[in-house]
Formats: sequence, structure tokens, C-alpha cells
Amino acid sequence: AKSWVLKKHFEGFPKDSDFELKEVELPKLKDGDVLFESVFLSVDPYMRPYSTRSMKEGDTMMGTQVARVVESKNPTYPVGTYVVANSGWRTHFISDGKDLHLLPFWPEKIPRSLALGTIGMPGLTAYFGLFEICKIRAGDTVLVTAAAGAVGSVVGQLAKIGGCKVVGCAGSDKKVAYLKQIGFDEAFNYKTVGSLEEALKKASPDGYDCYFDNVGGEFSSIALNQMKRFGRIAVCGAISGYNDTVPQKGPYVQIPMLFNQLSMEGFIVSRWNDKREEALKRLLKWVVEGKIKCEEHVTEGFEKMPAAFMGMLKGENLGKAVVKV
Ligand code: NDP
Repeated sequence: AKSWVLKKHFEGFPKDSDFELKEVELPKLKDGDVLFESVFLSVDPYMRPYSTRSMKEGDTMMGTQVARVVESKNPTYPVGTYVVANSGWRTHFISDGKDLHLLPFWPEKIPRSLALGTIGMPGLTAYFGLFEICKIRAGDTVLVTAAAGAVGSVVGQLAKIGGCKVVGCAGSDKKVAYLKQIGFDEAFNYKTVGSLEEALKKASPDGYDCYFDNVGGEFSSIALNQMKRFGRIAVCGAISGYNDTVPQKGPYVQIPMLFNQLSMEGFIVSRWNDKREEALKRLLKWVVEGKIKCEEHVTEGFEKMPAAFMGMLKGENLGKAVVKV
């Protein structure tokens, strides 16, 4: 079995030499054990800040995979069964069957990799952030950043299902064209648009009822001043700052929050674990009905895990970044 370990804590943007590929011998299975092989692995932004907070050098990189049973001494998981596991960047791993999510209701025609994207953690993040934090209502104008990514692309499409007007920002013209294609009402390239303030005003002259914030930083400071009265801001991510060695400085939020009477709340998707299954079923249904389109950015080869991860942080991905083993 192979695994990728964090050789050196990231300083600033991750680099190749921070990762090391290791070969490990797995023990024989005991009663109750299952041997899995990873089929698809996820690379996600959270791995950047969480590695610093919760990993030691030498630990296997954290992460989720879709995995298939190849040997089993556990009747719940016969050979050939697919699960979503949280076993890190490994080609193979042994589990006692705990903390695995079966994919029992999966239609044949839906790619299983979507269990790492639209019908998995990123899709749930979009779902709960939009319905529980932004509390969207039909007719709202919703702004979303990192809009062509795993979470953002689902946010926009769910907001359309909810009867909202949707404005998305992304970092390339190809991504902007994609956003229009999947139903965003307005979209612009935040890297080339010039004045962000003007672009936000042009896309919605009356302002925004909801802001689904995936990036933080300067963009969000500007967006805050474009909110309507009683606007709601879901602070989902702050990717613009994840690689900073010096924390970003203000501007500060109090003035626009006060005068526009805004609500702003950070959230972590696991808060709604009790509603997870129900939400996944709804997301799957919308995908099957074609109401949510799913794009994936697939990198082939386990040895390319670090490259796929760094490429995602740089914005190379359109849709969910995954690695096919
Ligand atoms: P994406 O698929 O959106 O990939 C990351 C994208 O971020 C890149 O493609 C890039 O797109 C954009 N990006 C990178 N650097 C910057 C920057 N400096 N400014 C603006 N955009 C940037 O990732 P996810 O959909 O998985 O995650 C999106 C956000 O949601 C992240 O902040 C993540 O941490 C957060 N998240 C939060 C969760 C929660 O529970 N709160 C759960 C899951 C994700 P572009 O080309 O547009 O720049």
C-alpha cells in the first residue's frame, strides 16, 4: 500500500518537498476487518489550514475517498461494496467497519466520485450554508465566490432551484462561461474585472440579500458594502488567506454590518450531521433529474495527489477536484 505523508509543515503555499510518498506493508485481516482500495480521493481546501492546526510532520495527509472492498472478514462489507471513508491519502487501508458511509442508494448511471463532491461533503456545505445560514427566499439575490468550484457551483444551482437571482465570481473566463451555462444570471472574472465594487454594482444594482462567502479577504470586505438591509452572510471559507504567513488586516466589518443590519455567521458542515442523509437524498434526486449539473476536475494517478491538491489551491479546477487512483 502507498500513502502520502506530510513531510514538512506548509509555510506559505505548499510545495512538492512538503510531501513524501511512502510504501507500507498492511497486516493480515482480523475478524471484523475489511481491506479497502481507494478508487477516488478528494483534494479539498480545508486540508491546507487543518494540516497546520491538527497534523504532525510524518502523519498521513488527511482526506476522504470513495473506496471498494477487496477483502473482507466483516459481513456488513462484502467484497465489491463501495463506501466513503475518511482514511487519508492512501491507496489501501484496513478498517474495522466503523466511521464508514455506505453508498446504498446509488443509481448505476451516477459516477461514484460524486460522493466526494455534489452528493457529498461539498454539496452538503452548499445545501446547509444556503438553507440554514443564508435562509434564502424566492426573489433573493445571492452572491457566491469561488463559484465554479465544488461548493460554489452547487450553491448557485440550489439558489436557482430556490427561485433566487444568482451572481457568481470566479478566476478565469472559462469558469465564467461555465457559470452562465449552468444557469447563473450574472458572472464575472474577479481577476480581470478591474473595480470589484463596480462589477458587483453592475451585476446587481440593488445589492445582495445573501452572500455565500468562500474566499474572505479583500473581496469580502468589498462585498459587505454591497449588501441590502437585513442581508445574510454565510462565512463558509476564506481560501484567499489559507496560504498567508502574515494574517490579513481589516477593513473591519462593523460599519456595514451595523448600518445595513446584517447577519454574518461562520459554519462547519458537520453541524447538521443529523440531517445529512436526508440532504444527500435530495441532492442525489436533483442530480438525477438534471436540475444540478456536476463538473469534475479529475487527475489520474495516486502519485499526482500533491500536484492535484496544489493545482486546486491555485484554481486549476473547474468543478470538484478529485484524483482517480
Ligand atoms: P473549490 O473547488 O472551489 O476550489 C478552490 C477554488 O478557490 C479554486 O478553484 C479557486 O478558484 C479559488 N481560489 C483560490 N485562491 C483564491 C483566492 N485567493 N481568491 C479567491 N478565490 C480563490 O473548493 P471547495 O468548493 O471545496 O471549497 C470552497 C470554499 O469552501 C473553501 O474556502 C473551503 O475551505 C470552504 N469549505 C468550507 C466548508 C465548511 O464546512 N465551512 C466545507 C467545504 C468547503 P478561482 O479560479 O475562482 O480563483
